[in-house]
Amino acid sequence: MSELTVDGARLRSALETLAQFGATPSGGVSRTSFSPADSAARAWVLDRCEAAGLRVRTDGIGNMFVTVPGALDDARPVWTGSHIDSVPDGGRFDGALGSMAALEVACRLAESNVALRRPVEAVIFADEEGCYHHLLGSTALVRSYSPDELAKLEGRDGDRLVDALQGLGWDLEAASATAVPAGSVHAFVELHIEQGAVLEASSVDIGVVTSIVGMGGGRLEFEGRADHAGTTPMNLRRDPLRAAGELLTRLPEVTASISPTAVATCGIIGVEPGAANVVPSLARLQLDYRDVRRDLIEALEDALFEAANEAADRHDLQVRFTRDSITNPAPMDQRLQDLIESAATAQGRSTLRMPSGAGHDSQNMSRLAPTGMIFIPSTGGRSHSPAEHSTWADIEAGANVLLQTVLSLATE
Ligand SMILES: [Zn+2]
Repeated sequence: MSELTVDGARLRSALETLAQFGATPSGGVSRTSFSPADSAARAWVLDRCEAAGLRVRTDGIGNMFVTVPGALDDARPVWTGSHIDSVPDGGRFDGALGSMAALEVACRLAESNVALRRPVEAVIFADEEGCYHHLLGSTALVRSYSPDELAKLEGRDGDRLVDALQGLGWDLEAASATAVPAGSVHAFVELHIEQGAVLEASSVDIGVVTSIVGMGGGRLEFEGRADHAGTTPMNLRRDPLRAAGELLTRLPEVTASISPTAVATCGIIGVEPGAANVVPSLARLQLDYRDVRRDLIEALEDALFEAANEAADRHDLQVRFTRDSITNPAPMDQRLQDLIESAATAQGRSTLRMPSGAGHDSQNMSRLAPTGMIFIPSTGGRSHSPAEHSTWADIEAGANVLLQTVLSLATE
């Protein structure tokens, strides 16, 4: 079989057109789910697919499916896709790349004479970025949301999801009947920008994702004693913020003691009473900690708490830890990793097996079907920002690896 390739110019044009929906002056996009920009982009996708003669259906929560029939129409389909919603003032490629590449793959397969055994479906998942709920659309494929749950979901601006859906004229009954039975999809593959700088730093073309990391979240509180900032000698203070500072400077050492893939971040810090001339009585740290295995995340949580205790002892403080949640890591399918790697190698691309530190719809899809993810380099590792960038050459290379992977899955 002569090698089928994507139409790189058409893919570029699709990405450039999509970037106009919700375009911001800074060169990024604000296309949060179910916003007018998102709705306009969905309508454009629909028109584009219909013009290409492809069948499109949308489920009750807004996941879109674009179908290329196979010879065995009742065979389990191969899915590929991503999301077109963005964070506020986000970039032009996060999700958009995997969505437009999936549509390009669908168009290319439909217009070529290649014989597919299985149907191929390009999927655009609703609300991946969690305006209403993190990974809303793909979660709804794993398990339908109950009408009560849907009624409680609110957007970043406090508006209700059900009002947004009704405003679009959608049927709320269908919104809670979205689940797909496990095993009804043959395989799922998602192409995505790395959103980090590992591939660029190692000059590798294609990342083969081994696992999507699991994420822990929790709150640490150091409790000391409020004192006068002028009259209390430094050695007589019980200052919780100093202990917090000591813990934070030790994060690289604590994570390294668990595994090379462990990361920990404090992105929110608060002190009480919060006055410039008062030694704080309380420091509250919101922690985010991730790794590739559940037991490693739990060990990391223990190590963080132990380091917090050591810091608390040095300053004569109480320390408390409250876990908010741990989401389990999602391993990618071993056979799909091999398929992606051999497709890339056959096209002369260098590859690196690597975990994904960010969450993706693929983590939900891995509960429904064997799932694989393909990464391409992100310039400077920038993402969730207008600075998000990948080269057109890398985009085309990634789309061709996706096409060959989907093709081999759909012909087996
Ligand atoms: Zn994404």
